[in-house]
Amino acid sequence: MECIYCKGIMEKSTAPFYLDRKGYHIVWNQIPAWVCTQCGEAYFETQEVDTIQRAILL
Ligand SMILES: [Zn+2]
Repeated sequence: MECIYCKGIMEKSTAPFYLDRKGYHIVWNQIPAWVCTQCGEAYFETQEVDTIQRAILL
């Protein structure tokens, strides 16, 4: 997998996930993600994002 911005190498890591919803500003730390070793861009997998969004709706 390579970064869409800089074509750098992506590594499985964790990154903070930010979300703004209905006036709430939510930050999760340590969410599993692919992180670019070159520019630091993080990509979250759909499954992880789904889990987070479900948690918010509860
Ligand atoms: Zn990159």
